[in-house]
Amino acid sequence: MVAGRTRVALMGATGSIGSQTIVVLRREPERFELVALAGGHRVHELAAIVNEFRVTSVGVSDDEDRRRLSALVENVDIVIGEKGLRELAASADVVVNAVMGFAGLPVTLATLEAGARLALANKESLIAAAPLVAKARSTPGAQILPVDSEHCAIHQCLVGSIEPGHPDVARLLLTASGGPFRGWDAQQLTHITKADALAHPTWSMGPKITIDSSTLMNKGLEVLEASALFGIEVERIDVVVHPQSIVHSMVEYVDGSVLAQLSAPDMRLPIAYCLGSPARLAHHWGRLDFTQSLTLDFHAPDRDAFPALDLAYAAARRGGAAPAWLSAANEVCVQAFLEDRIRWMDIVPLVARTMDDYEDDALANLDAVVANDARARRITHGNLPQ
Ligand code: NAD
Ligand code: MG
Repeated sequence: MVAGRTRVALMGATGSIGSQTIVVLRREPERFELVALAGGHRVHELAAIVNEFRVTSVGVSDDEDRRRLSALVENVDIVIGEKGLRELAASADVVVNAVMGFAGLPVTLATLEAGARLALANKESLIAAAPLVAKARSTPGAQILPVDSEHCAIHQCLVGSIEPGHPDVARLLLTASGGPFRGWDAQQLTHITKADALAHPTWSMGPKITIDSSTLMNKGLEVLEASALFGIEVERIDVVVHPQSIVHSMVEYVDGSVLAQLSAPDMRLPIAYCLGSPARLAHHWGRLDFTQSLTLDFHAPDRDAFPALDLAYAAARRGGAAPAWLSAANEVCVQAFLEDRIRWMDIVPLVARTMDDYEDDALANLDAVVANDARARRITHGNLPQ
Protein backbone atom coordinates (compact mmCIF):
# COMPACT_ATOMS: atom_id res chain seq x y z
CA MET A 1 0.00 0.00 0.00
CA VAL A 2 1.22 3.51 -0.88
CA ALA A 3 1.22 5.64 2.29
CA GLY A 4 -1.60 8.13 2.61
CA ARG A 5 -3.83 6.74 -0.09
CA THR A 6 -7.58 7.05 0.45
CA ARG A 7 -9.12 3.59 0.92
CA VAL A 8 -12.17 3.17 -1.33
CA ALA A 9 -14.90 0.53 -1.20
CA LEU A 10 -17.05 0.21 -4.32
CA MET A 11 -20.47 -1.40 -3.93
CA GLY A 12 -22.30 -2.18 -7.14
CA ALA A 13 -18.94 -2.30 -8.91
CA THR A 14 -20.20 -4.07 -12.02
CA GLY A 15 -22.95 -1.60 -12.97
CA SER A 16 -22.97 1.67 -14.88
CA ILE A 17 -21.82 3.92 -12.00
CA GLY A 18 -19.53 1.13 -10.71
CA SER A 19 -17.66 0.77 -13.98
CA GLN A 20 -17.30 4.55 -14.37
CA THR A 21 -15.89 4.67 -10.84
CA ILE A 22 -13.33 2.06 -11.92
CA VAL A 23 -12.28 4.38 -14.76
CA VAL A 24 -11.72 7.22 -12.27
CA LEU A 25 -9.75 4.96 -9.88
CA ARG A 26 -7.61 3.61 -12.72
CA ARG A 27 -6.50 7.17 -13.50
CA GLU A 28 -5.56 7.95 -9.87
CA PRO A 29 -3.46 5.02 -8.54
CA GLU A 30 -1.36 7.31 -6.32
CA ARG A 31 -4.38 8.83 -4.66
CA PHE A 32 -6.81 5.93 -4.15
CA GLU A 33 -6.56 2.31 -3.06
CA LEU A 34 -9.52 0.08 -3.92
CA VAL A 35 -9.85 -2.16 -0.85
CA ALA A 36 -13.31 -3.70 -1.20
CA LEU A 37 -15.83 -4.50 -3.91
CA ALA A 38 -19.31 -5.89 -4.25
CA GLY A 39 -21.31 -6.58 -7.36
CA GLY A 40 -24.16 -9.06 -7.06
CA HIS A 41 -23.80 -12.17 -9.24
CA ARG A 42 -21.37 -10.89 -11.88
CA VAL A 43 -18.35 -12.86 -10.65
CA HIS A 44 -16.27 -12.77 -13.85
CA GLU A 45 -16.38 -8.97 -13.90
CA LEU A 46 -15.60 -8.86 -10.18
CA ALA A 47 -12.64 -11.21 -10.65
CA ALA A 48 -11.20 -8.96 -13.38
CA ILE A 49 -11.37 -5.94 -11.04
CA VAL A 50 -9.89 -7.92 -8.12
CA ASN A 51 -6.96 -9.01 -10.26
CA GLU A 52 -6.34 -5.56 -11.72
CA PHE A 53 -6.50 -3.65 -8.42
CA ARG A 54 -5.38 -6.48 -6.05
CA VAL A 55 -8.52 -6.02 -3.99
CA THR A 56 -8.54 -8.06 -0.78
CA SER A 57 -12.27 -8.17 0.14
CA VAL A 58 -15.23 -8.90 -2.12
CA GLY A 59 -18.97 -9.24 -1.50
CA VAL A 60 -21.18 -11.49 -3.62
CA SER A 61 -24.83 -12.47 -3.36
CA ASP A 62 -24.71 -16.14 -2.28
CA ASP A 63 -22.66 -19.32 -1.70
CA GLU A 64 -22.79 -20.32 -5.35
CA ASP A 65 -21.26 -16.95 -6.35
CA ARG A 66 -18.58 -17.41 -3.68
CA ARG A 67 -17.68 -20.84 -5.10
CA ARG A 68 -17.47 -19.46 -8.64
CA LEU A 69 -15.45 -16.40 -7.61
CA SER A 70 -12.98 -18.34 -5.44
CA ALA A 71 -12.02 -20.38 -8.53
CA LEU A 72 -10.99 -17.13 -10.29
CA VAL A 73 -9.08 -15.19 -7.59
CA GLU A 74 -6.48 -15.79 -4.89
CA ASN A 75 -5.93 -14.37 -1.39
CA VAL A 76 -9.30 -12.68 -1.28
CA ASP A 77 -11.76 -12.63 1.59
CA ILE A 78 -15.20 -13.29 0.07
CA VAL A 79 -18.29 -12.27 2.05
CA ILE A 80 -21.94 -12.89 1.28
CA GLY A 81 -25.24 -11.03 1.09
CA GLU A 82 -26.43 -8.08 3.13
CA LYS A 83 -24.21 -8.86 6.12
CA GLY A 84 -21.23 -8.96 3.77
CA LEU A 85 -22.16 -5.57 2.29
CA ARG A 86 -22.31 -4.08 5.80
CA GLU A 87 -18.87 -5.46 6.69
CA LEU A 88 -17.28 -4.13 3.52
CA ALA A 89 -18.92 -0.72 3.89
CA ALA A 90 -17.32 -0.33 7.30
CA SER A 91 -13.82 -1.04 5.95
CA ALA A 92 -12.93 2.10 3.97
CA ASP A 93 -12.46 5.87 4.12
CA VAL A 94 -14.87 6.43 1.23
CA VAL A 95 -17.65 4.09 0.15
CA VAL A 96 -19.26 4.47 -3.25
CA ASN A 97 -22.81 3.16 -3.07
CA ALA A 98 -23.61 2.26 -6.67
CA VAL A 99 -25.94 -0.61 -5.82
CA MET A 100 -29.31 -0.48 -7.59
CA GLY A 101 -32.47 -0.06 -5.51
CA PHE A 102 -33.48 -0.77 -1.90
CA ALA A 103 -30.72 -3.42 -1.74
CA GLY A 104 -28.29 -0.51 -1.24
CA LEU A 105 -29.66 0.35 2.22
CA PRO A 106 -27.15 -1.70 4.28
CA VAL A 107 -24.30 0.08 2.48
CA THR A 108 -25.70 3.55 3.18
CA LEU A 109 -26.33 2.89 6.87
CA ALA A 110 -23.13 0.93 7.60
CA THR A 111 -20.93 3.55 5.94
CA LEU A 112 -22.40 6.44 7.91
CA GLU A 113 -22.49 4.47 11.16
CA ALA A 114 -18.76 3.76 10.67
CA GLY A 115 -18.13 7.52 10.43
CA ALA A 116 -16.91 7.38 6.83
CA ARG A 117 -17.67 9.33 3.67
CA LEU A 118 -20.53 8.01 1.58
CA ALA A 119 -20.38 8.80 -2.14
CA LEU A 120 -24.06 8.17 -2.74
CA ALA A 121 -25.44 7.18 -6.12
CA ASN A 122 -28.11 4.90 -4.62
CA LYS A 123 -30.96 7.38 -4.08
CA GLU A 124 -33.44 4.60 -3.20
CA SER A 125 -31.81 3.91 0.18
CA LEU A 126 -32.05 7.56 1.20
CA ILE A 127 -35.70 7.78 0.12
CA ALA A 128 -36.65 4.51 1.82
CA ALA A 129 -35.06 5.35 5.16
CA ALA A 130 -34.57 9.13 5.37
CA PRO A 131 -34.93 9.44 9.19
CA LEU A 132 -32.48 6.59 9.82
CA VAL A 133 -30.00 8.01 7.34
CA ALA A 134 -30.30 11.44 9.01
CA LYS A 135 -29.49 9.86 12.37
CA ALA A 136 -26.56 7.83 11.02
CA ARG A 137 -25.25 10.97 9.30
CA SER A 138 -24.69 12.60 12.70
CA THR A 139 -22.00 9.99 13.53
CA PRO A 140 -18.69 11.85 13.97
CA GLY A 141 -16.78 11.77 10.65
CA ALA A 142 -19.79 10.66 8.62
CA GLN A 143 -20.52 12.63 5.47
CA ILE A 144 -22.68 12.20 2.37
CA LEU A 145 -21.47 13.50 -0.96
CA PRO A 146 -24.03 13.02 -3.74
CA VAL A 147 -22.93 11.27 -6.94
CA ASP A 148 -26.29 11.90 -8.59
CA SER A 149 -25.36 14.67 -11.04
CA GLU A 150 -28.18 17.07 -10.07
CA HIS A 151 -27.46 16.75 -6.37
CA CYS A 152 -23.72 16.99 -6.88
CA ALA A 153 -24.42 20.25 -8.76
CA ILE A 154 -26.61 21.57 -5.94
CA HIS A 155 -24.04 20.53 -3.34
CA GLN A 156 -21.48 22.66 -5.21
CA CYS A 157 -23.88 25.60 -5.64
CA LEU A 158 -24.77 25.53 -1.94
CA VAL A 159 -21.20 25.98 -0.75
CA GLY A 160 -21.38 29.20 1.25
CA SER A 161 -24.97 28.62 2.38
CA ILE A 162 -24.08 27.16 5.73
CA GLU A 163 -27.12 27.59 7.99
CA PRO A 164 -29.23 24.46 8.61
CA GLY A 165 -32.35 24.50 6.44
CA HIS A 166 -30.67 27.04 4.09
CA PRO A 167 -32.90 30.09 4.82
CA ASP A 168 -30.97 32.11 2.20
CA VAL A 169 -32.11 29.71 -0.54
CA ALA A 170 -35.36 30.58 -2.36
CA ARG A 171 -35.47 27.26 -4.21
CA LEU A 172 -33.53 24.42 -5.72
CA LEU A 173 -34.01 23.99 -9.47
CA LEU A 174 -33.51 20.36 -10.44
CA THR A 175 -32.92 20.01 -14.16
CA ALA A 176 -34.36 17.09 -16.14
CA SER A 177 -33.48 16.05 -19.68
CA GLY A 178 -37.14 15.13 -20.10
CA GLY A 179 -36.16 11.61 -21.20
CA PRO A 180 -36.77 10.02 -24.61
CA PHE A 181 -40.51 10.88 -24.65
CA ARG A 182 -40.31 14.59 -24.02
CA GLY A 183 -43.01 16.34 -26.05
CA TRP A 184 -44.94 13.12 -26.80
CA ASP A 185 -48.73 13.24 -26.51
CA ALA A 186 -50.98 10.71 -24.73
CA GLN A 187 -51.64 8.81 -27.96
CA GLN A 188 -47.92 8.36 -28.71
CA LEU A 189 -47.18 7.34 -25.11
CA THR A 190 -49.53 4.33 -25.38
CA HIS A 191 -47.28 2.62 -27.96
CA ILE A 192 -43.91 2.76 -26.20
CA THR A 193 -41.76 -0.39 -26.40
CA LYS A 194 -38.99 -1.53 -24.08
CA ALA A 195 -36.36 -0.59 -26.68
CA ASP A 196 -37.83 2.94 -26.92
CA ALA A 197 -37.76 3.35 -23.14
CA LEU A 198 -34.20 2.02 -22.81
CA ALA A 199 -32.82 4.59 -25.29
CA HIS A 200 -32.01 7.67 -23.20
CA PRO A 201 -31.10 10.78 -25.24
CA THR A 202 -28.23 12.15 -23.11
CA TRP A 203 -27.12 9.60 -20.45
CA SER A 204 -26.03 5.94 -20.67
CA MET A 205 -27.17 4.27 -17.40
CA GLY A 206 -28.36 0.99 -15.89
CA PRO A 207 -31.80 -0.30 -16.99
CA LYS A 208 -33.82 0.66 -13.88
CA ILE A 209 -32.81 4.33 -13.80
CA THR A 210 -33.16 4.54 -17.59
CA ILE A 211 -36.80 3.47 -17.32
CA ASP A 212 -37.26 5.84 -14.35
CA SER A 213 -35.92 8.66 -16.53
CA SER A 214 -38.43 7.82 -19.27
CA THR A 215 -41.42 8.08 -16.87
CA LEU A 216 -39.91 11.10 -15.00
CA MET A 217 -40.16 8.98 -11.84
CA ASN A 218 -36.39 9.45 -11.62
CA LYS A 219 -36.95 13.19 -11.29
CA GLY A 220 -39.68 12.60 -8.72
CA LEU A 221 -37.30 10.41 -6.71
CA GLU A 222 -34.65 13.11 -7.10
CA VAL A 223 -36.98 15.71 -5.57
CA LEU A 224 -37.31 13.42 -2.54
CA GLU A 225 -33.56 12.78 -2.57
CA ALA A 226 -32.79 16.52 -2.65
CA SER A 227 -35.18 17.25 0.21
CA ALA A 228 -33.59 14.57 2.40
CA LEU A 229 -30.00 15.45 1.45
CA PHE A 230 -30.19 19.21 1.89
CA GLY A 231 -32.95 19.51 4.51
CA ILE A 232 -35.08 21.67 2.20
CA GLU A 233 -38.84 21.08 2.00
CA VAL A 234 -40.26 20.11 -1.42
CA GLU A 235 -42.18 23.40 -1.68
CA ARG A 236 -38.75 24.97 -2.31
CA ILE A 237 -37.75 22.40 -4.96
CA ASP A 238 -38.78 22.84 -8.61
CA VAL A 239 -38.13 20.75 -11.69
CA VAL A 240 -37.05 22.41 -14.94
CA VAL A 241 -36.76 20.54 -18.23
CA HIS A 242 -33.42 21.19 -19.87
CA PRO A 243 -32.96 18.86 -22.86
CA GLN A 244 -29.20 19.44 -23.35
CA SER A 245 -28.25 18.10 -19.85
CA ILE A 246 -25.48 20.72 -19.57
CA VAL A 247 -26.81 22.63 -16.55
CA HIS A 248 -26.93 19.85 -13.95
CA SER A 249 -29.03 21.84 -11.50
CA MET A 250 -29.27 25.30 -9.96
CA VAL A 251 -29.80 27.10 -6.67
CA GLU A 252 -31.82 30.32 -6.60
CA TYR A 253 -31.01 32.51 -3.59
CA VAL A 254 -33.49 34.88 -1.92
CA ASP A 255 -31.80 37.88 -3.58
CA GLY A 256 -32.63 36.43 -7.02
CA SER A 257 -29.11 35.18 -7.82
CA VAL A 258 -29.05 31.78 -9.50
CA LEU A 259 -25.95 29.60 -9.26
CA ALA A 260 -25.58 26.67 -11.66
CA GLN A 261 -23.04 23.94 -12.32
CA LEU A 262 -22.34 23.14 -15.97
CA SER A 263 -20.51 20.39 -17.81
CA ALA A 264 -21.14 17.98 -20.65
CA PRO A 265 -23.10 14.97 -19.31
CA ASP A 266 -20.43 12.61 -17.92
CA MET A 267 -20.90 10.79 -14.60
CA ARG A 268 -17.12 10.48 -14.12
CA LEU A 269 -17.15 14.16 -13.14
CA PRO A 270 -19.47 13.86 -10.09
CA ILE A 271 -17.84 10.54 -9.16
CA ALA A 272 -14.38 12.16 -9.19
CA TYR A 273 -15.75 15.12 -7.22
CA CYS A 274 -17.08 12.83 -4.49
CA LEU A 275 -13.89 10.76 -4.33
CA GLY A 276 -11.45 13.67 -4.39
CA SER A 277 -13.27 16.27 -2.28
CA PRO A 278 -12.18 18.75 -1.07
CA ALA A 279 -9.55 18.47 -3.83
CA ARG A 280 -10.61 18.69 -7.48
CA LEU A 281 -9.11 15.98 -9.71
CA ALA A 282 -7.69 17.43 -12.93
CA HIS A 283 -9.25 15.25 -15.63
CA HIS A 284 -11.58 17.47 -17.63
CA TRP A 285 -14.35 14.89 -17.83
CA GLY A 286 -17.37 16.73 -19.16
CA ARG A 287 -15.33 19.78 -20.13
CA LEU A 288 -17.29 22.22 -22.31
CA ASP A 289 -15.95 23.67 -25.52
CA PHE A 290 -17.04 27.31 -25.60
CA THR A 291 -15.54 27.85 -29.05
CA GLN A 292 -18.57 25.91 -30.36
CA SER A 293 -22.03 27.45 -30.14
CA LEU A 294 -23.93 26.30 -27.09
CA THR A 295 -27.70 26.47 -26.71
CA LEU A 296 -29.36 26.01 -23.34
CA ASP A 297 -33.16 25.57 -23.31
CA PHE A 298 -35.37 25.48 -20.23
CA HIS A 299 -39.09 24.83 -19.91
CA ALA A 300 -41.68 23.49 -17.51
CA PRO A 301 -42.31 19.74 -17.33
CA ASP A 302 -45.56 18.32 -18.78
CA ARG A 303 -47.14 17.17 -15.52
CA ASP A 304 -50.22 15.65 -17.22
CA ALA A 305 -48.25 13.41 -19.57
CA PHE A 306 -45.78 12.50 -16.76
CA PRO A 307 -47.80 12.17 -13.53
CA ALA A 308 -44.89 10.51 -11.66
CA LEU A 309 -43.65 13.95 -10.71
CA ASP A 310 -46.83 14.91 -8.85
CA LEU A 311 -46.94 11.48 -7.20
CA ALA A 312 -43.52 12.18 -5.71
CA TYR A 313 -44.56 15.61 -4.42
CA ALA A 314 -47.71 14.07 -2.93
CA ALA A 315 -45.62 11.39 -1.20
CA ALA A 316 -43.32 14.07 0.21
CA ARG A 317 -46.27 16.04 1.62
CA ARG A 318 -47.78 12.90 3.11
CA GLY A 319 -44.45 12.18 4.83
CA GLY A 320 -43.77 9.14 7.03
CA ALA A 321 -43.26 6.02 4.94
CA ALA A 322 -45.02 7.40 1.81
CA PRO A 323 -41.77 8.15 -0.09
CA ALA A 324 -40.52 4.65 0.80
CA TRP A 325 -43.74 3.13 -0.60
CA LEU A 326 -43.43 5.15 -3.80
CA SER A 327 -39.87 3.97 -4.38
CA ALA A 328 -40.66 0.32 -3.53
CA ALA A 329 -43.78 0.21 -5.73
CA ASN A 330 -41.84 1.80 -8.56
CA GLU A 331 -39.02 -0.76 -8.26
CA VAL A 332 -41.54 -3.60 -8.58
CA CYS A 333 -43.30 -2.01 -11.56
CA VAL A 334 -40.09 -1.21 -13.44
CA GLN A 335 -38.91 -4.79 -12.94
CA ALA A 336 -42.29 -6.05 -14.22
CA PHE A 337 -41.96 -3.78 -17.28
CA LEU A 338 -38.41 -5.03 -17.95
CA GLU A 339 -39.76 -8.59 -17.76
CA ASP A 340 -42.50 -7.71 -20.30
CA ARG A 341 -45.25 -8.29 -17.74
CA ILE A 342 -46.74 -4.78 -17.99
CA ARG A 343 -46.74 -1.97 -20.55
CA TRP A 344 -44.76 1.26 -20.15
CA MET A 345 -47.96 3.26 -19.73
CA ASP A 346 -49.04 1.00 -16.83
CA ILE A 347 -45.96 1.70 -14.68
CA VAL A 348 -46.98 4.98 -13.05
CA PRO A 349 -50.72 4.19 -12.64
CA LEU A 350 -49.76 0.96 -10.86
CA VAL A 351 -47.47 2.91 -8.51
CA ALA A 352 -50.36 5.34 -7.89
CA ARG A 353 -52.65 2.40 -7.08
CA THR A 354 -50.23 1.19 -4.40
CA MET A 355 -50.07 4.71 -2.96
CA ASP A 356 -53.89 4.66 -2.64
CA ASP A 357 -53.46 1.84 -0.09
CA TYR A 358 -50.83 3.70 1.96
CA GLU A 359 -51.84 4.29 5.57
CA ASP A 360 -49.77 6.72 7.61
CA ASP A 361 -46.82 5.05 9.22
CA ALA A 362 -43.54 6.31 10.62
CA LEU A 363 -40.07 5.00 9.80
CA ALA A 364 -39.10 4.73 13.45
CA ASN A 365 -36.45 2.02 13.09
CA LEU A 366 -34.94 -0.43 10.62
CA ASP A 367 -37.68 -3.00 11.23
CA ALA A 368 -40.29 -0.40 10.23
CA VAL A 369 -38.32 0.47 7.09
CA VAL A 370 -38.05 -3.17 6.05
CA ALA A 371 -41.72 -3.84 6.88
CA ASN A 372 -42.94 -0.84 4.88
CA ASP A 373 -40.81 -1.77 1.90
CA ALA A 374 -42.14 -5.34 2.00
CA ARG A 375 -45.77 -4.22 2.40
CA ALA A 376 -45.60 -1.81 -0.54
CA ARG A 377 -44.00 -4.51 -2.69
CA ARG A 378 -46.61 -7.10 -1.69
CA ILE A 379 -49.48 -4.76 -2.57
CA THR A 380 -47.89 -3.81 -5.89
CA HIS A 381 -47.24 -7.46 -6.82
CA GLY A 382 -50.89 -8.17 -6.00
CA ASN A 383 -51.98 -5.56 -8.56
CA LEU A 384 -49.79 -6.88 -11.40
CA PRO A 385 -51.41 -9.04 -14.08
CA GLN A 386 -50.97 -12.71 -13.07
P1 NAD B 1 -26.78 -0.87 -12.72
O1 NAD B 1 -27.99 -1.72 -12.83
O2 NAD B 1 -25.96 -0.60 -13.92
O3 NAD B 1 -25.79 -1.49 -11.60
C1 NAD B 1 -26.26 -1.87 -10.34
C2 NAD B 1 -25.17 -2.56 -9.55
O4 NAD B 1 -25.74 -2.99 -8.31
C3 NAD B 1 -24.57 -3.81 -10.21
O5 NAD B 1 -23.20 -3.91 -9.88
C4 NAD B 1 -25.33 -4.95 -9.53
O6 NAD B 1 -24.61 -6.17 -9.52
C5 NAD B 1 -25.47 -4.38 -8.12
N1 NAD B 1 -26.58 -4.96 -7.37
C6 NAD B 1 -27.87 -5.06 -7.76
N2 NAD B 1 -28.59 -5.67 -6.80
C7 NAD B 1 -27.71 -5.94 -5.79
C8 NAD B 1 -27.84 -6.57 -4.51
N3 NAD B 1 -29.01 -7.07 -4.11
N4 NAD B 1 -26.74 -6.65 -3.73
C9 NAD B 1 -25.56 -6.16 -4.14
N5 NAD B 1 -25.37 -5.58 -5.34
C10 NAD B 1 -26.44 -5.48 -6.14
O7 NAD B 1 -27.27 0.52 -12.04
P2 NAD B 1 -26.64 1.98 -12.17
O8 NAD B 1 -27.23 2.68 -13.33
O9 NAD B 1 -25.15 1.93 -12.01
O10 NAD B 1 -27.30 2.69 -10.90
C11 NAD B 1 -26.88 2.39 -9.58
C12 NAD B 1 -27.49 3.42 -8.63
O11 NAD B 1 -26.99 4.71 -8.98
C13 NAD B 1 -29.02 3.52 -8.71
O12 NAD B 1 -29.52 3.79 -7.43
C14 NAD B 1 -29.25 4.72 -9.62
O13 NAD B 1 -30.47 5.39 -9.35
C15 NAD B 1 -28.07 5.60 -9.24
N6 NAD B 1 -27.66 6.53 -10.28
C16 NAD B 1 -27.17 6.07 -11.47
C17 NAD B 1 -26.78 6.96 -12.46
C18 NAD B 1 -26.20 6.48 -13.77
O14 NAD B 1 -25.75 7.31 -14.57
N7 NAD B 1 -26.17 5.17 -14.05
C19 NAD B 1 -26.91 8.34 -12.24
C20 NAD B 1 -27.40 8.79 -11.02
C21 NAD B 1 -27.77 7.86 -10.05
MG1 MG C 1 -29.75 12.28 -11.61
